[in-house]
Amino acid sequence: MDDDAIWVRPQLGLDGRVEIPRGRLPEHSIDAHAARQLVHDELMLDGRSRLNLATFVTTWMEPEARELMAECQDRNLVDKDEYPQTAELERRCVAMLGDLWGAPGTAVGTSTTGSSEACMLAGIALQRRWRARGATGRPNLVMGANVQVCWEKFCRYWDVEPRLLRVGDGTTHLTAERAVAACDAQTIGVVAILGSTFDGTYEPVAGIAAALDALRDRGGPDVPMHVDAASGGFIAPFLDPDLVWDFRLARVQSINASGHKYGLVYPGIGWGLWRDEAALPRELVFDVDYLGGSMPTYGLSFSRPGAQVAAQYYTFVRLGREGYRAVGQDCRDVARWLAREIGSIGAFSLLSRGEELPVLAFSVAAPDAGWTVYDVSERLRAHGWIVPAYPMPQGLEDLHVLRIVVRNGFSRDMAGLLVRDLQSVVARLTGDEARAPGARIGFHH
Ligand SMILES: *Cc1c(COP(=O)(O)O)cnc(C)c1O
Repeated sequence: MDDDAIWVRPQLGLDGRVEIPRGRLPEHSIDAHAARQLVHDELMLDGRSRLNLATFVTTWMEPEARELMAECQDRNLVDKDEYPQTAELERRCVAMLGDLWGAPGTAVGTSTTGSSEACMLAGIALQRRWRARGATGRPNLVMGANVQVCWEKFCRYWDVEPRLLRVGDGTTHLTAERAVAACDAQTIGVVAILGSTFDGTYEPVAGIAAALDALRDRGGPDVPMHVDAASGGFIAPFLDPDLVWDFRLARVQSINASGHKYGLVYPGIGWGLWRDEAALPRELVFDVDYLGGSMPTYGLSFSRPGAQVAAQYYTFVRLGREGYRAVGQDCRDVARWLAREIGSIGAFSLLSRGEELPVLAFSVAAPDAGWTVYDVSERLRAHGWIVPAYPMPQGLEDLHVLRIVVRNGFSRDMAGLLVRDLQSVVARLTGDEARAPGARIGFHH
């Protein structure tokens, strides 16, 4: 038998088994049921998504949404002539987001596969506009070292110098002073993050915008901003309505958000919006006519599934502002509760407490504890929880943290179970078995 093969029965009721190679397209067909079972069984080895506290990505949707997505599975989003209504739903979603994010008029924008694609598009637009101002030389992009990897990707793919500014000295993200100090005539833009992936904190978008205004007023370069609101774009408008971070700031030219994070849709959908037509260079929009009709497209890919757009629109009309506020508030309440409970274990110090994104990051309080966040992460896995541990970005790289992302569907009950397991992990690591909840059950003298 080939080591790298799987054995299956080709058809129900048939004797004999066939070998399915793992790394080569099999020569013969098998029965649909057998194939489904084979794939299904292998996928049982994947983690249970609801216990995965590492990801920001939606792992639960209502049955109605799932049904709708199944209905739309054959729709190609790019085929706007054949599926004009799907295109119309996408247009409405863009309009709703433009309104939500304070666009002065009608914002322009598009759905994408996720925030990463939207960030690439926004970066390209900044680069083009910088060149259109007559600039030459190697462009750079200013951002905190805490940016998500998609920005480093953008810089590498499009040959832009990434100016990744150190964090630390009392902050875990970009500050206005550091951003302004890093800008020069070659700077295509500053990226501010509304909610840092590392600890969920908001960057001071309005403060950065004001500092860039002052830089221009002093005769310095006039540097536009992009806000990476992958998570916060669907949290701040509902939970922090007084926080001004969006198109209400004239300096903010574009915003991205992940429909599949707190937009509450299954992966992969994201949104990229520009404050007005002028912010999106016309040459980046292609008019495609080979599918019939003439339709503008702006994206890195061509064909894409339409189901996510239908699901996003469903979620918007289903929840409304009220529903998003309720879901977000619930997540924030659970995150805050967890922060208090984890704080009271005594072994950890909290970097963030779910006050901005419903995210908390915490490190081991005692530097000489003899165990690390990596031990905690590994042991929680034995309880079924996925809680990642990693070093903070440059400037705080000696600080190692655990991070919990509270998503829709992670209830107070589940949070209680997590705290129980975390307490028992800590108790074992510190060798203090007596502190583990339930440790005395079954204890005999
Ligand atoms: C998740 C995330 C991204 C990437 O988004 P995808 O939707 O996964 O492509 C970019 N920026 C930030 C701040 C993020 O949290």
